[in-house]
Amino acid sequence: MNGTKNKTIAELLFEIEILKEKAIKSEKLNKSIVKTSTDAIITIDRGGCVLSWNRAAKRIFGYNSNEILGKSISEFLVSINQLKKEDLDRFLSTVLKRKVEQTFEFLVQRKGGEEFTTELSISKWKSGKSIYFTGVFRDLTERKKKDFLLKKLDLALKNSKDIILMTDPEGVITYVNPQFTKTYGYESCEVVGKHTPRVIKGTNDNKRFELLWETLLNKKSFRMSHYQNKKRDGGLIDLESTIDPILNDERDIVGFLGIQHDITKRIKYITELEEAIDKAKESDRLKSQFLSTMSHELRTPLNSIIGLSNLIDRDTPLDDIIEYTQLINNSGEHLLKLIENLFDISLIESGKAKVFEKTIDLPIFLNEVHELMKIYQEKTGKSHVAFNLIIPLNCKKIAISTDALKLKHILVNLLKNAFKFTEKGEVNYGFEVCNKQAVTNIKFFVSDTGIGIDKVHQDFIFNGFAQVDGSYNRHFEGIGVGLTLAKKLVHLFDGHIWIDSELGNGSTFFFSFPISNIGSDIVIDNCDIRDSINN
Ligand code: ADP
Repeated sequence: MNGTKNKTIAELLFEIEILKEKAIKSEKLNKSIVKTSTDAIITIDRGGCVLSWNRAAKRIFGYNSNEILGKSISEFLVSINQLKKEDLDRFLSTVLKRKVEQTFEFLVQRKGGEEFTTELSISKWKSGKSIYFTGVFRDLTERKKKDFLLKKLDLALKNSKDIILMTDPEGVITYVNPQFTKTYGYESCEVVGKHTPRVIKGTNDNKRFELLWETLLNKKSFRMSHYQNKKRDGGLIDLESTIDPILNDERDIVGFLGIQHDITKRIKYITELEEAIDKAKESDRLKSQFLSTMSHELRTPLNSIIGLSNLIDRDTPLDDIIEYTQLINNSGEHLLKLIENLFDISLIESGKAKVFEKTIDLPIFLNEVHELMKIYQEKTGKSHVAFNLIIPLNCKKIAISTDALKLKHILVNLLKNAFKFTEKGEVNYGFEVCNKQAVTNIKFFVSDTGIGIDKVHQDFIFNGFAQVDGSYNRHFEGIGVGLTLAKKLVHLFDGHIWIDSELGNGSTFFFSFPISNIGSDIVIDNCDIRDSINN
């Protein structure tokens, strides 16, 4: 004040001019802010009477200033469901008591009654003794729409049956959806913050991953057809996926979005289908092979029957007739055996074959088989091959209840093969009785020192009409039904049949089945059905 006293009138007038100018400038600035604001700026007095109304207020609420200035704000803007006049009073009193500026979410209405949400920042100010309130209303309609959209997207992410993961530009995981957790077995907190390849990369196809990164860094999306990733438990999942770079407004890469589709089931299905097709092809091939083998096997004995019988007439010497008749008989027997085997297989396959059990003395039975096979040995010129029946010491007297005819059939088929494929050495056969898991099993074996069978062919020689050498010019006769029939007969006994063989080193065929009645005082070993013979 002292300073003012000393000033001349001219100086004071000058200062007043400057202050006036400043005030005008500040008012202009305020007006311009209020005018250009995208938010509605509304000033009311203590009673709620509208004193100022900017352009944005007109745009947002739909009223011209002449419709609203001087009127009570509660009549216009406040939703019917929200504040009444008395509520507004209460509301302003609360604002009055607070020092800082307040922000509220507010449901208001436009001209015409449409309700929408605003964010209201309200401040109070004084002029003289009067109090005023200036409110800035921000229309939240768009933001609410976006929030709602985000909620829907969030729901979609959470319920997606596809695996969704997001990473930062370096490939560090920032988000995984619940399907990721379900498929990979990792909780989200275990993988977020970790580098993607380190966590889930499975089969290594580095070239493909190089191409993936190159494409992504070129800001293009990459589609990965079938590949595999690793789960938490180490198992592999079959996947196909799309990976997209996430770009900001400046088109910089700010992360990656991966959508993976679990195709494990589909791949399994395709593999099974392919296997089934292969099997069908193989069975088709075997069928053709069988037909050609069959016609060969039928034609050979039939040719000799017809050929040899043609040689016999009134002038044929008796010795020749006897020799030819013998050969004709052999061919007939061969044909009969062939047809019998085929008939037996079809009988079993039709489910008509039955097991007729009776009690037999096993050593006596096996000796009979031995006699039978010795005749066969002589007939086929294999007498030089040693032939032994091995009966365990504790089973010299043992009676079992079984279908003797079928058991003989199995043994004879295996023994005939053993002689057929053995040029020197020995053919042995025998049995042992074993206890396994409270069940008594009898296990037979037929071993030879013949040509043996490689591992690949071991898998299918028990399947109908399969032969290791299926060529027309093959060395050994046969049509590939002997083992099939043996297997089917063993299955009728609830047993199983298997082979232990090595190419060039002979073969041992085993078959075992459970037996209930053992009519002797034998001691039964606790042995492993599959291995005991070789030990
Ligand atoms: P096949 O009438 O052709 O002998 P099998 O079903 O009895 O029919 O045998 C199928 C194939 O299994 C034979 O063609 C042969 O290749 C192989 N095989 C069977 N037994 C033996 C064996 N003891 N030694 C070597 N190969 C064998």
